Amino acid sequence: MEVAALERFLSPGKGSGLRSRRKVRPGELLYRAEPFAYVVTKEQLGGVCEHCLQRNEHLHRCSQCKVAKYCGKSCQKKAWLDHKRECRCLQNVKPNFPPDSVRLAGRIVFKLLRQSSCLSERLYSFSDLQSNAEQLSEEMKEGLRHLAHTLQLYLKAEIQDASHLPPAIDFFQIFTKLLLLPSLFRVSCCTVDILQDV
Ligand SMILES: [Zn+2]
Ligand SMILES: [Zn+2]
Repeated sequence: MEVAALERFLSPGKGSGLRSRRKVRPGELLYRAEPFAYVVTKEQLGGVCEHCLQRNEHLHRCSQCKVAKYCGKSCQKKAWLDHKRECRCLQNVKPNFPPDSVRLAGRIVFKLLRQSSCLSERLYSFSDLQSNAEQLSEEMKEGLRHLAHTLQLYLKAEIQDASHLPPAIDFFQIFTKLLLLPSLFRVSCCTVDILQDV
């Protein structure tokens, strides 16, 4: 479906959503776009290419961080813009490894800093996501504060002082937004991993 046929709408108490302005056939694909940011989970690391996500038994690993793995030179080249800065962070925190949610948040931070346009943002941008932080329990907020602190430690090689970042890039707020995307990211306050100080 063409983007013009879709529109955003506000639903009181539920946030905002997308709807079609014309009749939709059952099974019709409404919209497809590259994700703003994504990350291969720890369980899948080494089994799928970090760029195209294809399963492959003969992946080539990044010679610097030795974490990211790709089908070949072409995927590695295309992924470099998203991997370049996290590559230094991954090397810096070794032998620790960030939780998936923190690695994803790191990619979001670098992408926001690059201010590059992304097709998936034609309908919805990351800044459009509501945080709804005030609706979270204190326990949940505490879990997210831990994640924000872990993110700060993880990004230290690239971002020495997070207080110098633009106000729109707030580590705690990023996690409150991710929390509302259940298919993308789930957090349990009991299972939050914290990196050691580096
Ligand atoms: Zn690939
Ligand atoms: Zn790397």
